[in-house]
Amino acid sequence: MGNPKAFLEIHRQEAGYRPLHDRIHDFGEVEQTLNTHQRREQASRCMDCGVPFCHWACPLGNKAPEWNDALYKGDWELAYRLLNSTNPFPEFTGRICPALCEKACVLNRFNHEPTTNREDEAAITEAAFREGYIQPRTDIVRNGRKVAVVGAGPAGLAAANELNLQGYTVTVFEKDESAGGLLRYGIPNFKLNKDLIDRRLRLLEAEGITFKYGCFMSADSDIPALGADYDAVVVATGTPVARDLPIPGRELKGVHLALELLSQQNRVLAGKEFTKEERITAKGKDVLVIGGGDTGSDCIGTAHRQGCRSVTQIEIMPRPVEGPEDPQNPWPAWPRTLKTTSSHEEGCVRRWNVNTLEFIGENGRLTGVRVQEIDWQPNPAGGRPLMVEKGQPEIIKAELVLLAMGFLKPEHPAYPANVFVCGDAANGASLVVRALADGKRMAGTVHSYLNRQ
Ligand SMILES: Cc1cc2nc3c(=O)[nH]c(=O)nc-3n(C[C@H](O)[C@H](O)[C@H](O)COP(=O)(O)OP(=O)(O)OC[C@H]3O[C@@H](n4cnc5c(N)ncnc54)[C@H](O)[C@@H]3O)c2cc1C
Ligand code: SF4
Repeated sequence: MGNPKAFLEIHRQEAGYRPLHDRIHDFGEVEQTLNTHQRREQASRCMDCGVPFCHWACPLGNKAPEWNDALYKGDWELAYRLLNSTNPFPEFTGRICPALCEKACVLNRFNHEPTTNREDEAAITEAAFREGYIQPRTDIVRNGRKVAVVGAGPAGLAAANELNLQGYTVTVFEKDESAGGLLRYGIPNFKLNKDLIDRRLRLLEAEGITFKYGCFMSADSDIPALGADYDAVVVATGTPVARDLPIPGRELKGVHLALELLSQQNRVLAGKEFTKEERITAKGKDVLVIGGGDTGSDCIGTAHRQGCRSVTQIEIMPRPVEGPEDPQNPWPAWPRTLKTTSSHEEGCVRRWNVNTLEFIGENGRLTGVRVQEIDWQPNPAGGRPLMVEKGQPEIIKAELVLLAMGFLKPEHPAYPANVFVCGDAANGASLVVRALADGKRMAGTVHSYLNRQ
């Protein structure tokens, strides 16, 4: 702990976003960076608590007090080594982690000005790349065993990385044309620049991992067959099925799952071409996003950049409480309070307690959505509250609807004993940091399993 009084004298300072009028016209990352002096000042605010709740809250167990101290002292290389000792890919979490650690920070409890761990993490990692502290490892000793990883999202990449460093010969089988999973084909470029994924992939390849693209591995035959060919298999296939809304009019042109829009937009930015019929665009349209979560928010930012006329986001659940504290889920737990993202700031009507009844169209094309305001009332029989209609249904004009209502938790067949499932594929849709932690954990499980054989 470099400066024991910094938390009293220096306020939390976030780098903030690029100005709205500027960022809304491109897909470049919206977040800015602090200069080196400001960054070290921010790191100095960490109190090196005896019981570091940040460490407890981070699924990777990141050692924020240790690397913040090294950063404050200007030892960027040590800061990176400490950060990388628990986090395999901090350039991703440093940009898109919701920072569970910051909500659990003692300073958040004290004055709602937690340390800027997430931004510190990104800054440390970029400095490490810039200064050449990150180089492919050339000292890996092969142990003669081979492991297949199915799925190249964060969970699969973390498992592959860990097993490779332990000496296994690792081959990653991915159905898409490139690696990254939802990092590449879900999260918009304005939150995560895809060059960062390519930079990490070059390192993983240089360290010996083989990637095979365009390989869809079926659960019933291909994956068990891999189990026979390889010493072990890690299945990290995420949550491929989105929750749909099978109401009248679902077949109309203009009603899409959120990921259809988001993945296509990311592919367009990567240079892929689509025909006019295939292309999904919000240009000149009134857009309705159904689902109040983060995927919905990514749709809003994307719709703005595509040139939509307006965008409305509706959510069936009530509006969360406002403010830094959540009486239902107090510190150091994650507060389930109202979240306003950079995309919301760019302009959006947000409504809660709204149920969707029907998609309406003309000549097969969507023109509007019939919705109904509702209330949630306590259920006298206990259990889930009862949905009660309020007032009359209304029509929201829309030529594009994006369904952002989450993903179904996958079911897996009974695999052979040497096949292990991890990440969202095992736990249901979650966060990148949890996928990384689970991929690492599963690599440890595979290692123990193979050492017992
Ligand atoms: C739009 C969107 C935005 C998000 N934003 C954030 C955010 O800002 N911060 C955050 O922390 N989390 C965010 N998330 C959640 C996060 O992206 C996921 O929790 C995380 O990517 C899960 O990692 P995973 O490796 O388990 O699965 P995935 O990332 O889904 O990767 C699974 C991989 O397996 C491949 N695959 C699937 N089936 C097969 C098969 N049969 N054969 C071969 N390959 C297969 C897929 O193509 C994919 O590459 C977001 C999610 C979405 C949808
Ligand atoms: S990965 Fe997320 S929760 Fe963990 S230290 Fe980084 S920002 Fe915090």
